[in-house]
Amino acid sequence: MNPEKRVSRRRFLKSTGAAVVGSGMITGSTHTDASVVRPQKAGIREYRRLGRTGFEVSDIGFGTGNLDNANVLAVALDLGVNYLDTAEHYVNGRAERTIGEVLGGRDRSSLFITTKINISHASVARGRDSKEGIKERFRQCLARMRTDYADCLMIHLTPSVALVAHEGFHAAFEELKAEGRVRFLGLSNHGMQHAVYGGIEESMEDVIGAAAQDGRFDVALFVYNFLQKEQGERLIEACRARDMGVTLMKTDPVGISTILGEGLEGDLEAGRQVSEARERIVRDYMRWTEAAEEFKARHGLKTEPEVRDAATKFCLDNPGVHTVCATINSFDVLESFMALSGQRLTEAEEPVLASYAGLLGPFYCRHGCGICEPACPWGVRVNDILRYGHYFDAQHREKQAMRKYAALPGPGARGCMDCEGPCESACPYGVPARALLARAHLRLTMA
Ligand code: SF4
Ligand code: SF4
Repeated sequence: MNPEKRVSRRRFLKSTGAAVVGSGMITGSTHTDASVVRPQKAGIREYRRLGRTGFEVSDIGFGTGNLDNANVLAVALDLGVNYLDTAEHYVNGRAERTIGEVLGGRDRSSLFITTKINISHASVARGRDSKEGIKERFRQCLARMRTDYADCLMIHLTPSVALVAHEGFHAAFEELKAEGRVRFLGLSNHGMQHAVYGGIEESMEDVIGAAAQDGRFDVALFVYNFLQKEQGERLIEACRARDMGVTLMKTDPVGISTILGEGLEGDLEAGRQVSEARERIVRDYMRWTEAAEEFKARHGLKTEPEVRDAATKFCLDNPGVHTVCATINSFDVLESFMALSGQRLTEAEEPVLASYAGLLGPFYCRHGCGICEPACPWGVRVNDILRYGHYFDAQHREKQAMRKYAALPGPGARGCMDCEGPCESACPYGVPARALLARAHLRLTMA
């Protein structure tokens, strides 16, 4: 985040008109009834029925993939956010514990909390994903969140159609539901997860589509954005036909800040001998930079948030979308998303997105794609690495992205810099994957 855009807690509360009553914020794990922040001007302006759950959820949901700041979450809830998306492993369990810090003293029935549990072919084979194992892990989720129940339990990043119908998971869910520990069933997918979770992989459309057909799922979480809209729109329609709740992630594919005003070629070339392959990478960077500059000049834009906001509004425009799960862990990000609640894409913004798609769309690696990966003789996980690069550059989740990259099995993108790049000819979107991979490797290793 641009330093001058940083928003302190005090400035944020002032700017939103939120008034701190009493001592106000959470300190450590303590949250008293006196710590109430009342929204007066800004906050959630629209609620949507989450499919057949019947729950009216805020159009901006709170994604906790990076959450460790209880004060930010507390203010978000006070501003009317009532959909929380979490998972057992987010921030190694800390995200759920942070939710637990904030729930005390609040009306639990006013919130819809979704948590997720991973199952994979590898762990199924090891017997880790038995019915009892899943029930126990779910109980630990509840304990971390200090709540008696979750509104929805999802299969996290469901890796295949076969696991959509995983017997142990469904049996665990039914028993937990009968015990009053969970109300609805869901699943998430953002594409192939082979590298991290093992097993076979199928596309997001295969997996979410199978869940809609299955009929037992109440809520789905998947990728939809203006650069990747056809598949998402088909899934939204499949969910609508079953009256399933639709929640979204990765609604913002915009990452132009990384290339605005930077001499990218310097990242690669400082002190290094220039091979032909590297020269081509630099040329791709130059193309990228020029496209970004043209885009900026055409629309008089100075910052990435202007485009990012339009990208979110594009998703909110779709009535089949119920909540956009924004990853929030700071007051400045919270402020930017609160301003978007109830908003629609304006006539002036539509051509901006179209122009972005035309000029910079070719530099965006589609989430959950992986089409080019079989073309790589070294088995590089192109899609995973470029997603981590996006976490690093566009979502400002640097540490998390670096940890994920370090944990990725296989060769990583170290060799991409000097490769001829057969993966690029396999990409139907014309993504200059080598240049993006080389840059991602440098960023993710701080090389
Ligand atoms: S640039 Fe070469 S090494 Fe890197 S993913 Fe593509 S084919 Fe594989
Ligand atoms: S580079 Fe192209 S083919 Fe490869 S994963 Fe990204 S979008 Fe798909």
